Amino acid sequence: MRTMKVVVLGATGTIGTLITTRLREFGHEVLAASRSSGVDAVTGEGLEAALAGADAVVDALNRETLRAAAAIEYFTTTAGNVCAAARRAGVGRLVCVSIAGAADPAVNKTYGYYRGKAAQEHAYRSSGLPVTIIHSTQWFELVPTILRRTTVGPVAVLPTMRMAAVSAASVARLVADEVARKPDGRTGHEVREVAIRGPEVATAADVARRMLAVRGSLGGKSPKRILEVPLFGRAIASGGLIPEDGLVDEVTLDQWLAGTRPHAVRDGYDYVIVGAGMAAAKAIDGIRAEDQAGSIGVFGEDPSAPVYRPDLSKTLWLKEDASLEESLMLSEAPGAAKTPDESTELHLGTTVTSLNPDDRSLALDGGQRVRYGKLLLATGAAPRLTGLEPGSRVLYYRTVDDFRRLRELTRAGVHVVVVGGGYIGSELAAVLTQNGVRVTFVVTSVPLLAHLFPDSLAHTVTREFSDRGVELVVGRLAGGSTRRKGVTVRLEDGTEIAADAAVVGVGVSPRTELARAAGLAVDDGILVDDHLRTGAHSIYAAGDVARYPDRLLGVRRVEHASAAETMGTVAGRNMAGADRPYRTTPFFWSDLFDFGYEAVGEVDTRHRTVEDWAVGDDSQPDHSTGVVYYVNQIGAVRGVLLWNVWESVKPARKLIERTGLERVRDLDSLRGEIPFG
Ligand SMILES: Cc1cc2nc3c(=O)[nH]c(=O)nc-3n(C[C@H](O)[C@H](O)[C@H](O)COP(=O)(O)OP(=O)(O)OC[C@H]3O[C@@H](n4cnc5c(N)ncnc54)[C@H](O)[C@@H]3O)c2cc1C
Repeated sequence: MRTMKVVVLGATGTIGTLITTRLREFGHEVLAASRSSGVDAVTGEGLEAALAGADAVVDALNRETLRAAAAIEYFTTTAGNVCAAARRAGVGRLVCVSIAGAADPAVNKTYGYYRGKAAQEHAYRSSGLPVTIIHSTQWFELVPTILRRTTVGPVAVLPTMRMAAVSAASVARLVADEVARKPDGRTGHEVREVAIRGPEVATAADVARRMLAVRGSLGGKSPKRILEVPLFGRAIASGGLIPEDGLVDEVTLDQWLAGTRPHAVRDGYDYVIVGAGMAAAKAIDGIRAEDQAGSIGVFGEDPSAPVYRPDLSKTLWLKEDASLEESLMLSEAPGAAKTPDESTELHLGTTVTSLNPDDRSLALDGGQRVRYGKLLLATGAAPRLTGLEPGSRVLYYRTVDDFRRLRELTRAGVHVVVVGGGYIGSELAAVLTQNGVRVTFVVTSVPLLAHLFPDSLAHTVTREFSDRGVELVVGRLAGGSTRRKGVTVRLEDGTEIAADAAVVGVGVSPRTELARAAGLAVDDGILVDDHLRTGAHSIYAAGDVARYPDRLLGVRRVEHASAAETMGTVAGRNMAGADRPYRTTPFFWSDLFDFGYEAVGEVDTRHRTVEDWAVGDDSQPDHSTGVVYYVNQIGAVRGVLLWNVWESVKPARKLIERTGLERVRDLDSLRGEIPFG
């Protein structure tokens, strides 16, 4: 592609910034012009100098006003000045960013700003210069700004507006393509009119509601209700802003929220990762630590970008300014921890349906075959289903979508039944309660979490749940039913609990189906060696799905975040040529109300436990701070629970390693081994 000199006017605005970035990515020389850089399109000051030698000009100027006279004045003056300067400079193409439907009198008669845009389009169209007018629908990016301006207290009032919102980045891409377009040579002053819209039609209020459900707040506002008022007339309310013809962009609101970018799937990649979860995100880093250039294709069945799942049951409920974007481990969404590099493609919403290790290929749900150099299976685990059908009010909580849905359901103090007293169930029962939700917590036994905590601590935790208002019900789930506005959960003893929604967390199973069908060794997980290699050539596995030989604790499968991350990294490095054994002793952490803990190794009350607690004013053990040691029959410490004791995972791991060699004879001697800090 020929490198061009392009002047972008309004380069500091939402679309101007994206256009500038995109053009630079294409290798063009871009002059980002704005008043602050000395170019004033209203007075014409600095325009001539800026346009000298330019091949193309993009007009992304804007003035926000509802008054028709002010808008017409601004847009005709600036367009006139730009066209005059462009004519003098011999600029080859002008691209004007406008709004679909703005020139339609039925649309703009009640909206003065659009009359200004119509006048701007007219000025360009009649300039006699090679012009492209981009007729874009409303950008997703503008919705937070609209909400900020229209929210008062708990209520936002939006104009009734049917729209096909589009990603501003897609519009910027189109603008960049038009900039590079050669005039057709026939007319000399070709005028191109190109419309672009998003793939889905919805009202502005619905788009705002869906965004709010994910992000919690928009433009710094979290309205409880969004009202619609037909402020701008019937044409805008009924779809007058949606172009009938033109380009339909692929990016849906969900994809935009998740920060995905659709790519064409290649025939093959140097590295393919199946599953776009936590292990996958880290495997990309691992590969890149060894190989900066190889192509990486990631296929994830879930439409969400890789998310740091612990946030779905903690931070996103407890930290007021937390946003889902910040929990995305790899995404192009603003705020995401990392964006994929040019050689890494995320194909989200894409399921891998089969593997063929013999010819190193796999098949996608659309039927396409993809070859791989090295393959990582990072398919995670799936929630175990029970007699309660999953649905819009029955969530088997694991994904971003589940989070969004639960957030939506629990916005206004509802009643939720949480079924399953394990780790996820307990966390959710706690955070929902902390969010003002009435929670009935169905568990098979009390005290809670007795498989993890010694009796005294389990009782303290159970008391905390009751004191906080969680209603504990002991029973086993038998089934239930969903109504339009609620669910009924039925227990084996016949008890029925009616609520607005149910969240079920009764354990997960590793997703081994692909590996098994391809003939890989599977036994409660995909079997791998200490380098995370399966028995099949060039295929690795990591995360919840992998069963590996832990160097201290023996063969196991771990369903925890830190293992997924560290295994992902090691597998990625080894796929790209490193030779690293996986040596990390597993650990996990959790927060329950004001308690926080880290559990290193086998925190399992089938072992003998040695408790070491701070002492309270009454000389009794104080369960706010302490360490519990889990010791096997022959005196080896297999696990350590750090209860509100921080920065001690390393010494805990060392203790497990040391006592594997020198057994503990006097269990009492363990007390004080790890100080409380
Ligand atoms: C709500 C929640 C909170 C948690 N909190 C904690 C915590 O506080 N601490 C902790 O240590 N652990 C926590 N965990 C556990 C931790 O998140 C998991 O151990 C971790 O996500 C496992 O990573 P993974 O990459 O193996 O699997 P995942 O992150 O589950 O990713 C696997 C992905 O593979 C996809 N997939 C499966 N099959 C296919 C296929 N055939 N084609 C394409 N894609 C496929 C799945 O859709 C999924 O998105 C939590 C889990 C949840 C659900």
